[in-house]
Amino acid sequence: MSKKISNSIKKAGNIIIISAPSGAGKSSICEAVFAESKKNISYSISYTTRSPRKGEENGKNYYFISENKFKQMIEKKRFAEWAKVHGNYYGTSKKLINKALNDGKNIILAIDVQGGVSLKKQYPNNSCMIFIMTTDLKTLKKRLTARNKDCKGTISMRMRNAKKELKYLPKYEYLVINRKLDEAVHAVKTIIKSLEYKIEKDRIYFA
Ligand code: 5GP
Repeated sequence: MSKKISNSIKKAGNIIIISAPSGAGKSSICEAVFAESKKNISYSISYTTRSPRKGEENGKNYYFISENKFKQMIEKKRFAEWAKVHGNYYGTSKKLINKALNDGKNIILAIDVQGGVSLKKQYPNNSCMIFIMTTDLKTLKKRLTARNKDCKGTISMRMRNAKKELKYLPKYEYLVINRKLDEAVHAVKTIIKSLEYKIEKDRIYFA
């Protein structure tokens, strides 16, 4: 006699890795997805050595720490991954990730491509990599210019970085083109929802 599937819905949490070139809308998408699904999703607040921008709060946007403290945290193996991006250090707390996974919760991470690839290697079966991009590079430049945050030199640097980041696209599993914010948010939520139905490789479904 065969047994029923004990539980058809995936119980373990997933690491949702979201990466994008600067200006593609990653933060807005992550914030909206998180705001709409707070119950089932937690948000990974990274540590960084860069200074807070206007309006940013410690413990909300990032944990802003000194380079010394960051290096101590590396030595103590507190990061699941860390990388130097645009001259500053950024790192994901190992504790935060493991807590979410142990609680069976999904956790969203808005991190750069180096961090994304590194986490995928460490959590191959319960991570999902989503790349966000504008329709093309021209549109990305337009957005960077329109948001009026950066000088010309910084915009050129961000565009150079965007071209490098796009080389990582084949390593990602999903691509969401951010034409309209609400559509991109819907796409990311759909991808996350689909993970509930993913077959877990190390689980016995029928016996
Ligand atoms: P920003 O300084 O503009 O907030 O972020 C710069 C870049 O660093 C973005 O691509 C952002 O996603 C990335 N980033 C933020 N937190 C982390 C992290 O913990 N690890 C890695 N690898 N990148 C991060």
